[in-house]
Amino acid sequence: MRIEKATYENGAVLPYLGRSFTLEIRCYPSYRKPGVMAEGDKLVVLTARTENALVERAVREWYISRAAAVIPERVRVYQDQAKERIGRICIKDVRSRWGSCSSKRNLNFNWRLILAPMEVLDYVVVHELCHLKEMNHSRDFWALVEGILPDYEKRRKWLRDCRLIERF
Ligand SMILES: [Zn+2]
Repeated sequence: MRIEKATYENGAVLPYLGRSFTLEIRCYPSYRKPGVMAEGDKLVVLTARTENALVERAVREWYISRAAAVIPERVRVYQDQAKERIGRICIKDVRSRWGSCSSKRNLNFNWRLILAPMEVLDYVVVHELCHLKEMNHSRDFWALVEGILPDYEKRRKWLRDCRLIERF
């Protein structure tokens, strides 16, 4: 099956936190740098130039900035339950993985998680927090994940099937 890349013309449908937003490109000659905002069910790009590549870059930068705001908030929500001290939180542009953690207790997350529903994003946050205790995918590790998110399997399956890394 061929996977369609996301497109960035007016009217394109783009995901954000699991919801569909319709891209609306508004030409504002005074905008030297494009602005992006979510407005109802629209993702509005205010820009002087409307070339596809430019709109794509602006939307991508917006996604990354949203990921950098939302993901650390979700880490804080689950940090107490996981009872783990953490280092830095980094938002990464990689195509190989959704999240990772280091021996320095730093947590890394793929910005594309911001495209997925919050419960799926939360699963990756919990997964990485649990790796701070169990640096493997042993039975003990999955028991930790399940202790915090009893329905983690469903969230994990969503991520496996979503194709977001291939499309964005
Ligand atoms: Zn893992």
